[in-house]
Amino acid sequence: MTNPLLDFDALPDFRAITPEHVTPAIDTLLEQAAQALERVVGPDVAADYDAMSAVLDVATERLGRAWGVVSHLNSVADTPALRDAYNASLPRVTAFLTRLGADERLYAKYKAVAAGPSAASLSAPRRKALSNALRDFVLSGAELTGTAKARFAEIQERQAELAQKYHEHVLDATDGFELFVDAAQLDGVPDDVRQATAQAAVAAGRDDGTHRLTLHQPVYRPVLEYARHRPLREALYRAYVTRASEFGPPERDNGPLMRELVELRQEAAALLGHATFADMSLVPKMARSPAEVDAFLQNLAARARPFAERDMTDLRAYAAAELGLPQLEAWDVPFASERLKEARYAFSEQEVKRYFTEPKVLAGLFDIVQTVFEVQIRPDTAPVWHDSVRFYRVERDGRLLAQFYLDAYARPGKQPGAWMGDARDRWARPDGRLQTPVATLQCNYAPPVGGAPSLLMHDDVITLFHEFGHGLHLMLTQVDDMGVSGLQGVEWDAVELPSQFMENFCWEWDVLQRMTAHVDTGAPLPRELFDKMVAAKNFQSGMGMVRQLEFGLFDMRIHSEPGASGRMQRVLDDVRAQVAVVRPPEYNRFAHSFSHIFGGGYAAGYYSYKWAEVLSADAWSAFEEHGPLSVATGRRLREQVLEAGGSRSAMENFVAFRGREPRIDALLRHQGMA
Ligand code: ZN
Repeated sequence: MTNPLLDFDALPDFRAITPEHVTPAIDTLLEQAAQALERVVGPDVAADYDAMSAVLDVATERLGRAWGVVSHLNSVADTPALRDAYNASLPRVTAFLTRLGADERLYAKYKAVAAGPSAASLSAPRRKALSNALRDFVLSGAELTGTAKARFAEIQERQAELAQKYHEHVLDATDGFELFVDAAQLDGVPDDVRQATAQAAVAAGRDDGTHRLTLHQPVYRPVLEYARHRPLREALYRAYVTRASEFGPPERDNGPLMRELVELRQEAAALLGHATFADMSLVPKMARSPAEVDAFLQNLAARARPFAERDMTDLRAYAAAELGLPQLEAWDVPFASERLKEARYAFSEQEVKRYFTEPKVLAGLFDIVQTVFEVQIRPDTAPVWHDSVRFYRVERDGRLLAQFYLDAYARPGKQPGAWMGDARDRWARPDGRLQTPVATLQCNYAPPVGGAPSLLMHDDVITLFHEFGHGLHLMLTQVDDMGVSGLQGVEWDAVELPSQFMENFCWEWDVLQRMTAHVDTGAPLPRELFDKMVAAKNFQSGMGMVRQLEFGLFDMRIHSEPGASGRMQRVLDDVRAQVAVVRPPEYNRFAHSFSHIFGGGYAAGYYSYKWAEVLSADAWSAFEEHGPLSVATGRRLREQVLEAGGSRSAMENFVAFRGREPRIDALLRHQGMA
């Protein structure tokens, strides 16, 4: 019997793969990869790029691809049996990859390649792939010895433990809160939320007609935005911003964890010879130094602050005159903002939706991509995991560049949201075959009903373009070397450039004229509606910007200032005094639930959101200069950024495209702050 997960010649046979195939296939591939590792570090394989790649990369790429198929199915076609199979293999796959990334023998062999006679003849992309690999070994502590090495490993383990605990505390504090209120207190709150909270009260055993409120987003947000009852807003706000802090049960207080985490990060950085954790965090990123990031954030703050103040002045005036709120508090801001937004830009998202039918939007997207990036997109066939999944090929002058799956609709067993996955990367394989990239694009639209097409919210359209941008980065690459083709090896703070860039097309009048058709009349989006959408887009953009900068500056300062671990709340208060326009109450403990930097991978990296936005806005400004469908500009972006992928630094790519380093002007202009 053959196992379809072990067939690497054709595209994955999604129909034939069953949960029973997972464990035997992954076990076989793990075994082969482990053998390849032993062989490649041994005397039989020369310290030569090709020789090592033919042994190790072939084995690890197979493991990666098969595991990718299993993970993908787990995300789009979850069943209890598949989930069990996935969870059974996950720890072993993770353990192997960790071992591979820190193997000293392998590190020594790569160093020998870099120092050997053949190094000079390596192509530029290969040199980049090799230097990335060496850098990552160093960051994993491969150069440490003796007690330093043991301590480094200990720190890694303790950090993982603390991050997990931090998460659990936030989760438990969120889940642990409930508040029962009567219907009158929910005056103003949308009906669907009132119904859901009434049902939740019944489910909790109450038969007194009350509503059960929680701190989960689908309840917390609408209550803060719509509830007219001010004391209720304050009560919920207070509970939310004191989660996992000293104001709750001590066993759930994240304060001590945060302090230990920041101190451990600093200690690990010092072991590797870096002045601060921020310096270490930036090694594999595009930003060059903490000072550069700090200057970047400070500059944006100085530019955005007057606009944020104006937003706040407008809001105060409106709240005082129209809402009877002369003293605007933090728990009034979302409520007053929603009322002001409604008063200024009233238009219905439901009305907008009737212009964005899925076939028209998709044809519009393909049209833009075909024009700007000089490719042809054609329907193709391959085994798929669900009948509604479509498959396409991307060609230039009849030559196959890439293929992609489009899984557009929501259904049970599929993860919510939208994402792009890489089923296969471009690679000139050691056996001489050129492997073309394959992407998977997932969205969650309501499926078409009867003969009517699916209707998309404007946000859905933007998301589709965003994910397609990631897809283009994967599919249009012309780099032959695994490790730096497509998105591989692209700096983490630059990876959102193509995706955020693509979003801009969704705000172009001429483009929208061609990709909208009213579901009943066929008429394109009217100008009046478009103008309202654009005006609403920049509503309170100044306030939104300084809020993100507050998070980014706090993150950078606690990871770069000596002794900051002992005075984090003071650092946060300082940053707020400097950039924030909404002054939160004394008891606000935002940092205690800032999971991005304490429980996730964004430590000394939160600035990346704004950093990548600057890149994508500046890239788009080149199209504003030459027209949104400019073929010459598209060719430059394609050749210098999308095709080059990780084979050069993101800064080199950007400069080659734009003729200069990125500037912040375009981002400010696009958000109405110029
Ligand atoms: Zn993205």
